[in-house]
Amino acid sequence: MNPRRKTKDPSEEKRLSKPHTVFREKIQRGTPYLFKNIICHPENNLRFICLACKEAKKKNYEGYCENLRIHLMNKAHEDTLKTEELKKECQQSIKFLERGTDVSQDLDVKDESDKEETKEGATSGMKSKSKDQVQLKFDIVSFLIMNNLPFNLANKLINYTKHLVNYYDLDTIESTKIYDQQVSKIASKCIGLELKESNLKLLDYSPFSISADECTDKAGKSFLALSARCFASNLENEPEDRLLTLFELGESSSGKVLHDLIENFLFNGINKDLKQKNFMGISSDHAPNMISGGKKGLENG
Ligand SMILES: [Zn+2]
Repeated sequence: MNPRRKTKDPSEEKRLSKPHTVFREKIQRGTPYLFKNIICHPENNLRFICLACKEAKKKNYEGYCENLRIHLMNKAHEDTLKTEELKKECQQSIKFLERGTDVSQDLDVKDESDKEETKEGATSGMKSKSKDQVQLKFDIVSFLIMNNLPFNLANKLINYTKHLVNYYDLDTIESTKIYDQQVSKIASKCIGLELKESNLKLLDYSPFSISADECTDKAGKSFLALSARCFASNLENEPEDRLLTLFELGESSSGKVLHDLIENFLFNGINKDLKQKNFMGISSDHAPNMISGGKKGLENG
């Protein structure tokens, strides 16, 4: 399986991910008030959801984690504070987040300078922390190399690890095993359907291009992964890659077969006209022959 995206530029990835901080249970839910009212966005661990505002049917009930403190200070959020007790708790949480942000900024600075600290040999406490961080970085990079994963996944992997340790206790992580069969069932029967519906819907409203990657699993089964590059909302300026579906391919999958598979998948629903209008093109690595010889739909849009 080759998950590399040809068009994804690592510097673009870095620029996109840099301004946002990942949801941290200890910070964004670090007071009883926050714990009751704030949750991590289920699809994006850089964002929070404010349950108080959501229940009160306020419009802006989610945002990026680093903006949580500002959200709590908004007039709209203030309106949800019906009692003096709630107002006090909210004020305390704002102060808590102020300190939390300072702490995380400190950590970021240390992280940036840890190379120099290791070189120059800082105080013993600092040194061992940096040493662990360097070791962790080596471990992450080794994991990417051993599994043939793209290097720009490193930061996402670290962020995701933080998310996991904030969400699950060590016992749960240590005692959990997952088998290939379960992975495939969860992906195809549960997450797959959900993903398919929500991501396909995006294509009704956003211009998109399709990328088709052929891949093979360890058992020799071939799959075609179909993803779209599109805008996830009107507010986003940068397009995102969204996985649409995974087709299991038979023994012989000619270009025509693949072409028809994709065309049927994309342009067969109720809003097929909207999708056809938004469709801009297709790129593929292992299956180039499907572009030619098919019907017009996938050639020109
Ligand atoms: Zn709120």
